[in-house]
Formats: sequence, structure tokens, C-alpha cells
Amino acid sequence: MTDGVIPLLDLRQIGRTPPVPHPLPPPRSGPWLDARGRPLRDLRISVTDRCNFRCSYCMPKDVFDKDYAFLPHRDLLSFEEITRLARVFAQLGVQKLRLTGGEPLLRRHLEALIAQLAALRTPEGLPLDLTLTTNGSLLARKAQALKDAGLQRVTVSLDALDDAIFRRMNDVDFPVADVLHGIETAQAVGLAPIKVNMVVKRGTNDDQIVPMARHFRGTGVVLRFIEYMDVGMSNGWRMDEVLPSAEVLARLREHADLVPLAPSSEGETATRWGYADGSGEIGLISSVTQAFCGDCNRARLSTEGRLYTCLFAGDGHDLRALLRGDAVHDARNDDEIAAALGALWTRRNDRYSELRASLPADADAGPARRVEMHYIGG
Ligand code: SAM
Repeated sequence: MTDGVIPLLDLRQIGRTPPVPHPLPPPRSGPWLDARGRPLRDLRISVTDRCNFRCSYCMPKDVFDKDYAFLPHRDLLSFEEITRLARVFAQLGVQKLRLTGGEPLLRRHLEALIAQLAALRTPEGLPLDLTLTTNGSLLARKAQALKDAGLQRVTVSLDALDDAIFRRMNDVDFPVADVLHGIETAQAVGLAPIKVNMVVKRGTNDDQIVPMARHFRGTGVVLRFIEYMDVGMSNGWRMDEVLPSAEVLARLREHADLVPLAPSSEGETATRWGYADGSGEIGLISSVTQAFCGDCNRARLSTEGRLYTCLFAGDGHDLRALLRGDAVHDARNDDEIAAALGALWTRRNDRYSELRASLPADADAGPARRVEMHYIGG
């Protein structure tokens, strides 16, 4: 987008905001099952729509330029609002919270939110699995404070070891050495096990698959390869840029003996493979070529409090309105919020990735409009 041009389309607002269903069912405790029998276990919370990187597959510079209108602070959920919702979600069966963004470490005083979330308990009295996904740029500086606040582990996104390729992909000339230093610092303060996510784009960074695997083998870091996905509407996704996980695995197997591992948890996104000599494991996240909607137990809370029941959804339900009392159904207490969430989850029928195969192979296929990834996180 050139200077001075006002975007006609606000990519955040392209979906409708359907009202929270009415009438609300009576409050009950979880686990709720959706229309396909899937429980709600994992809540991803976006704490900012801003990012200091401009990865072309996520926030391309020509769209997210200096004229782009990010959300004003008053529109963001406050830490207290996030914690209140997370507490209700935990009562309904959520066991895992992941903070994301945008770049979550850009949100000021994030440690205060982490401390509040770390104090939550499941109905059985257990702490929740609390983690965060970051581009690693601020990790070296913040790792100790995050750990002290109660964060258990981190996932770091890193698409290349080669500095030139990495700088080109983040498109803000950020050096790979700083991210590697962030990973080492996180490991040193005990934010473990660390996962590293690499989005693989054919022709852009697929020559980094083997060097990345070699670098992290034997370090305790779990490297996961993610198929480039058709999230959002602004990355110009094309199927021919997707490198199927099967091909990633074949390339890795030319250099190492890998054996399949059992899933470590229900609804896990990655297929796990271990080095036969016990020197670690890698993961393959195959959202495009091997959809895993069948056991998807994830919900996503956007920066301004909309609930998305699928990464590829167009519509998000406005929970902030419910919290702030300006909704049609004014939720004054947590039981009413729980009932509203239950009503949303039990109606859920999403399975976009499974349906994708029947859609044309380009960015415009699928739901009329898909929400942007930087807005609801990964
Ligand atoms: N800024 C944080 C980070 O970099 O991890 C959190 C937000 S980012 C949107 C979360 C994850 O989504 C990152 O691992 C990123 O690589 C991934 N991602 C973004 N767009 C993607 C796409 N089109 N296909 C696959 N993964 C994508």
C-alpha cells in the first residue's frame, strides 16, 4: 500500500461479529463437547495485534505499513479481563493457555498477566499448562522475568539459521544471532522444554530444513516444521509454495535415522519423530496436507476479546461486550459467562482444514473472509 492511501478494508473487521447465542443454556461445569464431539482444552490468547517483524507470510509490509491502524489500547482486553475469561475457560475444561499475538513480548508488563494466569487452577486444583509463542527478538531480555512470573515454557518461531535468509523473511533486517541468544537464555533460566517452530516455504527457506535440524539436535530443543498455511487474506498464499511435511521428513531421513513417536497429548498438532540414537525429536505440523481438525480442541481469543473457534474462521464472537456489560445479554457473573461460552462451544462445527482439499488452490478460496493470524495468533 502506498503512503497516504487509506485501506478500504479493515482486515480485522471483515468477518461478521455474530451475537453470543441466545437463549443461554443453564450454567454447568465442563467438559463441553462441540457438535463433533471435541472437548475444549486449549485456549490461545492474543495479547497484541502489533509485531516488530513483517514476515511476508503473516504481516506483509505492503499491507501492514506505517498507515495501518492497529487497535487502540482501550480496545484491548485488560489483564483482568483476560484472567477472568481464562478462569471461566479453566472451569469448562481448558487445561492449557498459550499467549500469542502479534508479538506478545511487545505488550507492556506482560509478566503481570503471566503471574495472574499462573495462579489459576483447574476444577481438580491443578495449575494450567502456561506457555507463550514469540519471535524471540526480546526473549534474551525478558526470559528471567517471564520465568519468575510463572511462565513454564516458550515456543520460538525461527524460519532459518542462515542470517541473510532470516533477515529477508522477517523483513525488518533482524539478525538470527539475537534470536538464537534468546533461545539459549530461555533455556538457561529453565523455560523448558523449548520448541522452535519453522514455517517452511518452498523456494524461500526449504534449504534450511537440514541445517536447522542439525543445529537443534541434541540440545533438548524440539524443532517443528510447519506447512505454510492459507491463514488470513493478505499473504497471497499459493499451494505451490507449500512444502508437504512428507517431503520435509524425506529430506531429514537422508541425513538421520528417525522413528515415529506416540503423541504426547490429546489433540496434539504435531506428529512426533525421534532420532533413533535418542538425541532428540522433531515435529511435523501438517495443517495443509494432513488436516487435524478431527481432534482440534483449541479456541482462540483475539486481542480485543473475540472468540474464534477455528484458525480459519471469518467470524469471532464478542466476549468483550459481554464482559463490559454492553452486550444484549449483560453478563454480570462468571456463571453467565460460562453459559455463554458453553453455548458457543457446543454449537461449534468448524473443520476448515479438512474441507480445504475440495477448494481451489489459491488464497481466495475458503470462507468468504478469514481472520488474520497476527490478530488471533498461531
Ligand atoms: N509473534 C509470535 C511468533 O512469531 O511466534 C506469535 C504470533 S505468530 C502469528 C505465531 C506463529 O504463526 C508463528 O510461528 C508464525 O510463524 C506462524 N505463522 C504465521 N503465519 C503463518 C502461515 N501463513 N503459515 C504457517 N504459520 C504461520
